[in-house]
Amino acid sequence: MTDPRQVHVVYPGSFDPVTLGHLDILERALRLFGRVTVLIAESGKAGLLPCERRVALFREAIGPEPRVDVQPFTGLLVDAVNALGANAVLRGIRCAGDYEHEWGLAGVNGLLSPGFESVFLLARPDLAAVSSSLVRDVTRHGGDLSRLVPPCVALALPRAEPSS
Ligand code: ADP
Repeated sequence: MTDPRQVHVVYPGSFDPVTLGHLDILERALRLFGRVTVLIAESGKAGLLPCERRVALFREAIGPEPRVDVQPFTGLLVDAVNALGANAVLRGIRCAGDYEHEWGLAGVNGLLSPGFESVFLLARPDLAAVSSSLVRDVTRHGGDLSRLVPPCVALALPRAEPSS
């Protein structure tokens, strides 16, 4: 059996932008596993911030943490996981919709790369409603971001004038 402190997990996503929900999953994973590589997808959904900005903000949000590496990522997740020699992929589950999505991803990734493992952590109940897409909407309308994202992200996001 592998010592959990030797386990290296990959935490992929768009993180556009990183939220308190994402960071909670990361913090809890660091209590369980030895190392986490955060892979930030270069392309994908139409979003807010370019990849290099999302990487920089994620790094700033966690500060110096020798057990976490944050990298941009493009291509197939299974290839990145194999290239890193990681043991598993880490994902957060907020609701039944997330579960269904993850079920499909994990199934196909297992077919692409036999032995591929995924680990899932349930969202903290008070953060389960937080998503990057809602943060982007709140940002566009000048709403209060303090309970949704870390302070460095709240400061960095392009703000609309608060509606009066
Ligand atoms: P993707 O673009 O792959 O959906 P995201 O950047 O939105 O990725 O999220 C990365 C991972 O974090 C996903 O597993 C997602 O379900 C999870 N996640 C997102 N928001 C939260 C949250 N509030 N609490 C827990 N997990 C979350």
